[in-house]
Amino acid sequence: MWNGSGGDGHLHKQSMALRFINIAVFSDRTFFYHQKWYLLPATSCIFAAQREKHFKSEMNVSCDMRCDSPGFTAKFGTYTTIDTDTQKVIHVEVVQKDECPNSPAMELEGLKRTLSVLQGYGVTIKRLVSDRHSSIAAFLKSTTIIHYFDAWHIAKGIKKKCIKASNNKECDKIGKWIPSIIRMVYWIGNTTQETEDLDADGELRKQKFQSIYNHIRGIHNHETTLYPKCLHGELEPRDYIQPNSKAEEVVSNILNSPYLLRSIKQLSPTIQTYSNESFHQIINHFAPKMHHFRFKGMLARTYLAALHCNENVGRPQRVNKKGDTEHSLWYSRAKKDWMAKKHLVDPTFVYAINTIEMAMYMAKTNTKGSYYTAEMMCDPGTITEKLPKPDKTDFVAKLISRFKH
Ligand SMILES: [Zn+2]
Repeated sequence: MWNGSGGDGHLHKQSMALRFINIAVFSDRTFFYHQKWYLLPATSCIFAAQREKHFKSEMNVSCDMRCDSPGFTAKFGTYTTIDTDTQKVIHVEVVQKDECPNSPAMELEGLKRTLSVLQGYGVTIKRLVSDRHSSIAAFLKSTTIIHYFDAWHIAKGIKKKCIKASNNKECDKIGKWIPSIIRMVYWIGNTTQETEDLDADGELRKQKFQSIYNHIRGIHNHETTLYPKCLHGELEPRDYIQPNSKAEEVVSNILNSPYLLRSIKQLSPTIQTYSNESFHQIINHFAPKMHHFRFKGMLARTYLAALHCNENVGRPQRVNKKGDTEHSLWYSRAKKDWMAKKHLVDPTFVYAINTIEMAMYMAKTNTKGSYYTAEMMCDPGTITEKLPKPDKTDFVAKLISRFKH
């Protein structure tokens, strides 16, 4: 029912195949008419009604943006907000490229719109976790929201720089210390819980992090007041980074960078953005990156993904006849090893039945498009239709002249 809004001829190919084997199919035009006037508004209406049930007066959320293509050429940025207490998707914003001066500004625009909508519903955000997007950090400083950075994003940034540095022969020792450095980042997050003095919490996280630079050089007593020595006991001899070596200079530049130390102060103690990453994988099923969509189609597909996620998040693990919980094996390309994961019960699709019933009701009562939500009504239009169309004659002449001798 959703195929075809991709404008890539997907629906056309399917209907051609059916017609070829003599099965009667409605025309493309009929399909798009029903999709535009009944299916899209029904989806937006069902999601709007459902998410209101998840709103609370004060919430902790994780936010992240998914780009519909890699790099800075994205047409849409989908900004997703998840309640970190229940893991339910509470809001999505689709920002089109031409609505912002540049691609990085799309993420800030998504956040601003999200906060404005949630405020309209009387929701106050207490804690927000995101990646290390500088304009978002600067904007949130002017609010009362406690802003944390996701540990995975920080760890990923450090790991990338350390791997690059360890490719140099003189610095290959850094490579051996990468797992310890990454473990320490997560340890700092887990062991430095939030108190009433947020500045002191930040300082403690920073001092714990500064101890890593000493630890990998074999120094376990530090000149810091809040974290004066490592908590581990006696260690067996290790391959420490030698003083005055090239490796020491390079790793110092990475770990003692003022930008990184400022970020570590805001390292999230509990809430993380991994739910957003999983949700973005679900969006890929409903709106594959290889297809092109229009604004309303993209938004409705994201709503569908959110409905699917909210209905199936936290579903229980499968139990066999003996009463034992089931697991399955998968191969992790990142870890280059097999991993066990919980085998969950099959997902349910009640949201799909509700959406179809709603679309049928709208068709029967002929309430064409009157159930579009405010977000869907804010369609910015396609990028190309806003460009002034030049006269075709000059371009045809140019094309022909290219083939003349
Ligand atoms: Zn140590």
